[in-house]
Amino acid sequence: MTATETAVSTPDIPLPATQMHRADGTPRPCNVCKWQTPDPTDPARGQCTVNRHAGGGVWKRWIRDAINTTCSRHEEGKLSFRDHV
Ligand code: SF4
Repeated sequence: MTATETAVSTPDIPLPATQMHRADGTPRPCNVCKWQTPDPTDPARGQCTVNRHAGGGVWKRWIRDAINTTCSRHEEGKLSFRDHV
């Protein structure tokens, strides 16, 4: 068995809170987080843009259910002028 197979066979290790995770009915869902870009054809889905590669580029992650997904890096509110420049 390889190291990868060992990791896959231990699914009970909890994700860090900073990782996107499912939370049914969360008061801090991705769909009202400033880091989320909604899917233009399906607002229940989107992409999270909070992470950066080592080189500084955005590392997008797909969000399958933006209403029942969250993480500890959730930020609410409208984008400020500074967020656009
Ligand atoms: S709550 Fe977390 S996973 Fe969801 S969009 Fe915001 S930063 Fe990304």
